[in-house]
Amino acid sequence: MSEPVAPEQTPERLVDGFGRVHRDLRISVTDRCNFRCTYCMPEEGMAWLGRDEILTFEETARIARVFVERFGVDSIRLTGGEPTVRAHLPVLVEQLAGLRVGGDGPLVDIAMTTNGSTLRNVAHDLVAAGLRRINVSLDSLRADRFLELTRRDELAKVLDGIRAAAEAGLDPVKVNVVLVGGVNDDEVLDFARFGRDEGVTVRFIEFMPLDADDGWQSAQVVPQDEIVRRIAAEFPVEPVVRGSEPAERFRYLDRPVDEPGSIVGVIPSVTRPFCESCDRVRLTAEGQIRNCLFALDEFDLHTPLRNGASDDDLAAVMHEAVGAKWAGHSIGTVQFIRPRKSMSQIGG
Ligand code: SAM
Ligand code: SF4
Repeated sequence: MSEPVAPEQTPERLVDGFGRVHRDLRISVTDRCNFRCTYCMPEEGMAWLGRDEILTFEETARIARVFVERFGVDSIRLTGGEPTVRAHLPVLVEQLAGLRVGGDGPLVDIAMTTNGSTLRNVAHDLVAAGLRRINVSLDSLRADRFLELTRRDELAKVLDGIRAAAEAGLDPVKVNVVLVGGVNDDEVLDFARFGRDEGVTVRFIEFMPLDADDGWQSAQVVPQDEIVRRIAAEFPVEPVVRGSEPAERFRYLDRPVDEPGSIVGVIPSVTRPFCESCDRVRLTAEGQIRNCLFALDEFDLHTPLRNGASDDDLAAVMHEAVGAKWAGHSIGTVQFIRPRKSMSQIGG
């Protein structure tokens, strides 16, 4: 990537020093979770945010409104922690779903990332409130391994949740699989079959150094090339042109391209990061902007918000946060410094 230039900020766009226009907002609604995935959280000992520290729905919706109406952000993804453990989540979804890009453009696209365990109960209300798309995280199709990985015996609930999401009208339903070498990478083909049979897009994610236990090792990353090689040995695939999505997508050659389950994806966050086209900005549950998953600095919206800041004041913090974005992360190099926060505290 070329040298940074002074960010040219216009009232309509959030542009960083490398010319990347930011249109995708990730909102963490809680740092809490009903699972304890080994690659994300410790079994015990997380320091949870206090009730008062977490943004109210009104505060979250106000920040989102500035991002969407003023800066043309057109896509919002709710995440966490586990977003569905936040009480009355459909109320927030409804507030966000009414936002129009640029103030008078199309409605903003609302999606969510979830562990899927409560979807049978909540999917219908979330869709009625305006949720359109969903990603469900699932890292093993074997009950004993699922229990080891999540420290919860809830595989059946998650599988049922995936079906409930489709039945409620969420489209597409994608399944995200974090592959950890020596732990679940022997399930690549099982997941490929699962996606084809269930008509969902399975996306394999490379393990990133954001686990709370700080146990990540580069040897545990299963690289994209290896994942695709294993799939293609059984089900031949061809690459699909990469758009703005972080996932590199592959089409099964024996399936029509528009048939559900005809695509499999890999998110090569470590071996082939998508930093050059990254258009994401994150809001943590306590109201801090992070311009990268691996950012070391945060930009505070919580304090001004509670001290009577105007929309212009909030917008200025958003400009500053995006303007300070670096070219990309440097995982695997000596320069890499692991962020203090882990995935569930950032909002993955
Ligand atoms: N609880 C929800 C879930 O699990 O989908 C949303 C939050 S979770 C932090 C968001 C995503 O981050 C999930 O797909 C999860 O698998 C992924 N994730 C968590 N820790 C990770 C790590 N160390 N490396 C790669 N992905 C990770
Ligand atoms: Fe919870 Fe999601 Fe982290 Fe698993 S990955 S512990 S479900 S926040």
